Amino acid sequence: MSGSTGTIVEESLQALMDDQTFLPDLKAEIREKAFSSLVSILSTPNHVNKSFLRIALDNKKVVRIPAFRIQHNNILGPYKGGIRFHESVSEEETSNLASLMTLKNALHDVPFGGGKGGVVINPRNFSNKELNLVCKKYVQYFSGILGPDKDIPAPDVGTGEREMDWMMGEYKSIHPGQSYLGSFTGKSVDNGGSLGRKDATGKGVYFSFRYLLHDFMEKQYKWMVERENPFAKTILNYYGKPLKLAVQGFGNVGSVVALEAHNCNLLNNKVVSVSDQNVTLYNSDGLDIPSLVQYVKKNNGDLPVSHEQLTEAEVKATILDRDDLLTLEVDVLFLAALEDQIHSENMDDIQADIIVEGANAPTTGEADANLKEKGKVIIPDILANAGGVIVSYLEWLQGRETQFYTEEEVYDRLFEKFRETCDKVYPQYFGDAYSLRENCYIHAVTKLSTVLYRQGKLY
Ligand code: NAD
Repeated sequence: MSGSTGTIVEESLQALMDDQTFLPDLKAEIREKAFSSLVSILSTPNHVNKSFLRIALDNKKVVRIPAFRIQHNNILGPYKGGIRFHESVSEEETSNLASLMTLKNALHDVPFGGGKGGVVINPRNFSNKELNLVCKKYVQYFSGILGPDKDIPAPDVGTGEREMDWMMGEYKSIHPGQSYLGSFTGKSVDNGGSLGRKDATGKGVYFSFRYLLHDFMEKQYKWMVERENPFAKTILNYYGKPLKLAVQGFGNVGSVVALEAHNCNLLNNKVVSVSDQNVTLYNSDGLDIPSLVQYVKKNNGDLPVSHEQLTEAEVKATILDRDDLLTLEVDVLFLAALEDQIHSENMDDIQADIIVEGANAPTTGEADANLKEKGKVIIPDILANAGGVIVSYLEWLQGRETQFYTEEEVYDRLFEKFRETCDKVYPQYFGDAYSLRENCYIHAVTKLSTVLYRQGKLY
């Protein structure tokens, strides 16, 4: 673990160590030893698995592609986390994402540990046959460490239902006679997946924002007015007002966030801008999000990039450069693309006062501190984007029981989990000087430390 995640975990542990009501039976020297043990456990992964997948390409050339499965911590349950297919995948990135999963599951009380996988490829450069082979080889190479009670992968950037279906199929062939439905989540519904899984992350991201600006404020308005806290003032400033929103990334997560925001009748939203890897689209009167969703479905996931394509999509918009979205004059910025999108070079140009992290780690540590200093509210990844893993947990449960929930039941359970977490962290956030990210980490680290201690792991 490195960068802001590592530092923030250590700071959370320091805050707990100074709090004598936390694990009060840990005294003096033993207390210090236990905390140094905690730092080492939470800052390093349990296992780093790396292989080179040997793939025969369609042109008969044979390549060996680096692939990872990093298992960070399993004190709360089997390792759990996505598999990313992207050229920028590295051991460090995968390890950071695995540790984030441990903390995310702890925060939301999901009985899983943290893991993450990755394959260093651009899937767009591979045929379907080659991708199928990559998926099968991934499962073959890591077959010993994967399984419903060991480590349960899910989709991430560059992977989706199709890849999870292929991977589960391969897992089933390698382990005949064993239960397999819980070996991968994010599968297609026909193949044992859960209704609602596909949209779960985006729905959760939007819910974390809507809950704060609407439900929480309805209940806590008077209390919020009495706060001296700068973040409470920021939220009060936008409460009940029309909101201009921008969404970076228009894939699994971003497109659902944009649609949820567009359809939400509890807030007065206008989605004025969306972007993807090629382009930013802007319309100060609000974009026609349903038409854009239809367009990307038919066009390999890409937003329109020319006037002809906008006409084909029946959408009115100005075409801007890809990164222009980040610095537009908007109230709320949803980040649903990749890591490190707000950094030292653009942090001073960010105009939005509320930033919601749909992607993992889209704000660098330096930018995070800078935005906090300015009183901007950041709803962090660990809180906002847990919808996928929460519904993955429901999918895993359904697979074990071979009983399936309706879509309505899935969303009810998803939002119930989110409500519980939000009610845990929002009041503390507006009541003290920590950022929301720090608050979430303190909750997660408290949970992990308590269970590690109760299981006798701290010595
Ligand atoms: P995706 O591949 O479906 O979509 C990514 C989107 O981002 C695409 O529209 C792509 O064009 C766009 N994009 C890529 N680079 C960009 C750039 N520089 N600027 C603007 N847009 C860019 O991926 P996804 O599943 O939507 O995941 C997005 C993020 O959310 C990732 O960080 C992922 O780790 C995180 N996440 C996803 C899930 C999930 O369930 N899918 C769960 C938790 C977290």
